[in-house]
Amino acid sequence: VAYYLDNINKKKHLNAFLEVYEEEARSQAAEVDKKIKSGTAGKLAGMVVGLKDVLCHTDHALQASSKILDGFRSQFNGTAVQRLLDEDAIIIGRNNCDEFAMGSSNENSAFGPVLNDADNERVPGGSSGGSAVAVQADMCLVSLGSDTGGSVRQPAAFCGIFGLKPTYSRISRHGLVAYASSFDCIGIFSKSVEDMAITLEVVAGKDEFDSTVSTKPVETYSILSIDPSKKLKIAYIKETLETEGISGEIKSKTVEAIEKLKAEGHTVEAVDFPLLDYLLPTYYILTTAEASSNLSRFDGVKYGYRSPNTTTLESMYKKTRTEGFGAEVKRRIMLGTFVLSASYYDAYYTKAQKVRRMIRDYTKKILSQYDFIVLPTTPTTAFKQGEHSEDPLEMYLADLFTVQSSVSGLPAISIPNGEDSGGLPIGLQIMADDFQEGKLLAFSKYFT
Ligand code: GLN
Repeated sequence: VAYYLDNINKKKHLNAFLEVYEEEARSQAAEVDKKIKSGTAGKLAGMVVGLKDVLCHTDHALQASSKILDGFRSQFNGTAVQRLLDEDAIIIGRNNCDEFAMGSSNENSAFGPVLNDADNERVPGGSSGGSAVAVQADMCLVSLGSDTGGSVRQPAAFCGIFGLKPTYSRISRHGLVAYASSFDCIGIFSKSVEDMAITLEVVAGKDEFDSTVSTKPVETYSILSIDPSKKLKIAYIKETLETEGISGEIKSKTVEAIEKLKAEGHTVEAVDFPLLDYLLPTYYILTTAEASSNLSRFDGVKYGYRSPNTTTLESMYKKTRTEGFGAEVKRRIMLGTFVLSASYYDAYYTKAQKVRRMIRDYTKKILSQYDFIVLPTTPTTAFKQGEHSEDPLEMYLADLFTVQSSVSGLPAISIPNGEDSGGLPIGLQIMADDFQEGKLLAFSKYFT
């Protein structure tokens, strides 16, 4: 704890933490020390963890990096948070993120941007940028983020660490601030596969507070067993490497990884994915629709910020939401309200639901013939602060390769795959079939 607190202090300029629980972490550490001595410590004893500001933690502030939740404190622990604490993990603080997890650069936070520790002029990725930088810069060992369309994998790639989005429903969403409920997953950042595996083992599994969570038994992920003599069948999606706008260096690093796998005796084959152009439109129609509904609860009545300059109930709603939400969140609420409106519902929302099914079916078909799909995590390395903030469509392109698994509900991990010539980290993404986290983690360990 002392080591991480020291780093947090030295690297304040990165803006990765909204709040640090210094005294609490020190006293928790002392408690854990006692338990270790008496042989009663939990599985995660002494693991120092950061929480994205979308996870409920009893009696701690929770704002989703938004002004609209000013002054809000959580009255209960989310299931994942409770399970970490039950196994004696130590929570060191609350990480900055894009407002309501909407963004790809962590520039949409009401508390200012997070800086990438590899190059302070560049973004760390988003929306879980603070959680990624907290691990990147050794401010905690592991952090929990949320991944709706890439918010754990993309910042992991930009920061040179591991980032996992498990299968949809593998980890309970109880106590996770909702963005798009049929996509939202709690995800994990770490510098090693072992740390990720044991964390997943603790937080995953059935939960009476989330009716969508899977009741499938949780594997002992931390065993990371893989038979090195067993040769795997791996697919890569041809279109991803031919995408306009993909950086030459990312392409060549991905090809190098493919060649390395082939050299190790695995079968690696190109497959077509003709639906690539439909991924972002499908993702952004469905997630904005769900967000517009989820965020209607922030009305100034029950929680957080209320505009002081109002006279009627209606003006209270309007002014509270106008003043409380940032520009990107408002854009999405409007877009989502539009695609759900009576005259456009079938043309956009219903159509996107059908395309979602096609994307999942197509991806599952590939995975019925191959163990994994590999693809780059992102089309470019970390971009400069401000580079895309004026153009939302350009920003959305950063999610091009991560949304396939999100739309399909499938698990995917971003693992470090070297650096570009400027020293910026590159990620390789590996996708697997539903509930194949054990295999995915074991393979990630073997391959790095
Ligand atoms: N960048 C994507 C978005 O803004 C992904 C966000 C996320 O996964 N939370 O929707």
